[in-house]
Amino acid sequence: MSKTALITGASRGIGRAITIALAKQGYDCAINYAKNVVAAHEVKAIVEQSGQRALSVQGDVGSSADRERIVRETIETFGQIDLLVNNAGVAPDVRADILEAGEASFDRLISTNLKGPYFLTQLVAREMIKTNTAGKIVFITSVSAYAASTNRGDYCISKAGLSMAVKLFAARLAADNINVYEIRPGIIETDMTGPVKAKYDELIHQKDLTPIKRWGKPEDVAKAVVAIAMDLLPFSTGEVIDVDGGYHFRRL
Ligand code: NAP
Repeated sequence: MSKTALITGASRGIGRAITIALAKQGYDCAINYAKNVVAAHEVKAIVEQSGQRALSVQGDVGSSADRERIVRETIETFGQIDLLVNNAGVAPDVRADILEAGEASFDRLISTNLKGPYFLTQLVAREMIKTNTAGKIVFITSVSAYAASTNRGDYCISKAGLSMAVKLFAARLAADNINVYEIRPGIIETDMTGPVKAKYDELIHQKDLTPIKRWGKPEDVAKAVVAIAMDLLPFSTGEVIDVDGGYHFRRL
């Protein structure tokens, strides 16, 4: 019988690539998205072409009612959840200096990037325990969990908080045979980074930002999720996997 994955923010970018890769590995997929129904249905069709079952489920991860409905619809369709990928996330609409940035952006980012995955994980973990599933939970954080960008403090704080959520859930769920992982992407070519493409082109190709001199691709992140999904890291939990071209270590 196929295993089931619930992937948030699966309509575009990194979440889309993760979903397609998981379907190729034999996972049925619940494809969560916020607004972009056309893109979500395209991903659904690709999953079905791989021979797997797919459900597209709209819902704002920042909304308590939506989170409950996302989990309910997934369980009603597939019976259980073996893998949760907390991928949905947003960048600030405007990059503003921390002496100027407003509360509305802070609230939006904390709600979507931190509160949403934290409480979605709570719901899904309870289901995994109820159905006696030795599941796996993945959080897509960012290098912004530790790298300070003073023009998007809200984003950095949301990702730093999410990094702690990984440790908390890893510690709490190990006894239930549920492993929890953090994947920290670096600079990945998606819609999110479209507006800052020229800046990162220069940093990567002219300013030696990363040892591996190229943009990351959504498929690079998907491969790390596949390793977890295929149970290739069974004795690791609370583990950070950097998918960043080597950005994270100091060089001299
Ligand atoms: P993206 O291309 O902007 O796609 C974002 C996805 O999240 C879309 O599927 C979107 O759905 C969904 N989404 C947005 N708000 C949502 C909400 N409130 N509830 C449910 N779904 C929501 O972003 P990406 O670059 O793939 O980023 C994916 C994750 O990787 C994010 O957590 C991001 O912070 C993280 N990350 C990205 C990079 C990078 O360089 N791109 C680097 C490090 C970490 P719709 O299509 O319906 O709008």
